Amino acid sequence: MNDLTYNVIVGLEIHVQLKTRTKMFCGCALSFGEEANSRVCPVCLGLPGALPVMNEQAVEYAILAALALNCRVADFTKWDRKSYYYPDLPKNYQISQYDLPLGNDGAIEIPLESGGTKNIRIRRVHLEEDAGKNLHTAGGFSQVDLNRAGTPLLEIVTEPDLNSPEQVRALAVELQRIVRYLGISEADMQKGHMRFEPNINLVIERAGRQFKTPIAEVKNLNSFRALERSVAYEIQRQLDDFLETGRTMQMGNKSTRGWDDAHEATVLQREKEEAHDYRYFPDPDLVPVVPTPPRLDEIRARLCELPVPRQVRYVRAYGLSDYDAGVLTADRATADFFEQAVAAGGDPKRICNLLTQVGLKLANERGRDLPGLGLEPSRLAALAGMVDRGDVSASAGNTILPAMVETGKTPETLAQELNLLQKSDAGELEGIVDQVLAQNAAAVADVQAGGKKSQKARGFLLGQVMQKTKGQANPKVVAEILDRRLR
Ligand code: ZN
Ligand code: MN
Repeated sequence: MNDLTYNVIVGLEIHVQLKTRTKMFCGCALSFGEEANSRVCPVCLGLPGALPVMNEQAVEYAILAALALNCRVADFTKWDRKSYYYPDLPKNYQISQYDLPLGNDGAIEIPLESGGTKNIRIRRVHLEEDAGKNLHTAGGFSQVDLNRAGTPLLEIVTEPDLNSPEQVRALAVELQRIVRYLGISEADMQKGHMRFEPNINLVIERAGRQFKTPIAEVKNLNSFRALERSVAYEIQRQLDDFLETGRTMQMGNKSTRGWDDAHEATVLQREKEEAHDYRYFPDPDLVPVVPTPPRLDEIRARLCELPVPRQVRYVRAYGLSDYDAGVLTADRATADFFEQAVAAGGDPKRICNLLTQVGLKLANERGRDLPGLGLEPSRLAALAGMVDRGDVSASAGNTILPAMVETGKTPETLAQELNLLQKSDAGELEGIVDQVLAQNAAAVADVQAGGKKSQKARGFLLGQVMQKTKGQANPKVVAEILDRRLR
């Protein structure tokens, strides 16, 4: 029993709502929170005789995503009808892409907690339409809201390359960053813009034999937390089930499970009959999609540097910590702002400190992104320069930054107004240093004697000067004078 080892195997399916203005196949505006069934038309209501028209923008977004995920983009794809019967899908089929997805055979790097990255293969990327929402809240009745029906959905399917709950989460977070970087989705979890379906099983080795547990697919997870927890839960459940019943893939087939958030457990929904009978067939109402090479080049030109490569570059080029680089590249607006300030002459590490210690907190408090604070990158660079030169201390820099946002004044003006300029005038400071040295002969002797006490005594003298100047002396200049005097 004790010689049992196992590997976790997870593939992930992700649905992402694209932020086009209108729906996938009709002119209805996308909506969130409007009155039920107020954003519908004959097409998305599935009325007989209504004809769909493809949304060009959605196709562009999907191709952009496929390129960002390093997929091969198909030169010919088409639309297929996937038949199923639920009230939230009034046509009785979903328009999707079956055998010819827009993109396939891709891969992305995800950051690992242990540092470094891992390559995850992407099996396919395709476009389809979302369903409406069934509501089971009206005592005894069910209602349906079709505002969401027909919203463009990007479906991304990975190969089963994920081996832990943490990796599954990292991939999901990475995809959120990517679609936001590309500007193709808000990817707001609270609004259901991203939904996850992990396929999980274990490969168990025991007494030299290998066993595979049946795959469980957990449906419709809409938070990173639920995603990570449900995978962790499934690992333990499948292990327990194997030890108890010895069930393997040969005996039980694939099952579909739901996530019970309150009990933090997955719940069996159905044991899947082998292949689903979706009766896919090409949609006769829609023309195929044939992206031409010039069109693809045009879309490729809009690709931007993605978060992980950008993070790696910040560590390498600017000497930032992996953590700080991750914070700055979390969203594109922050990373762009950081780079503008660096381009304006700010020291990257100093800019990074000002942003991570103060700037991002301010933005967060105000519910904005960094550019939304109205701060000029060049002024941030100027503030960084003042701190670096010792015109103001680092902590004064952290005081001046919020005041810049508040008042729109320059850092130089604020340093003066707030009385935060450090005294760097060597003549004036020399006088003060000499006074301090005269009053502390014992400490001076300790410094000159060298050895253990020397550093401490020097620190004490520097502290005395700072105290006499009420903290306004530039410590760098004071240290230089001390060194000269005590040589
Ligand atoms: Zn419509
Ligand atoms: Mn789908």
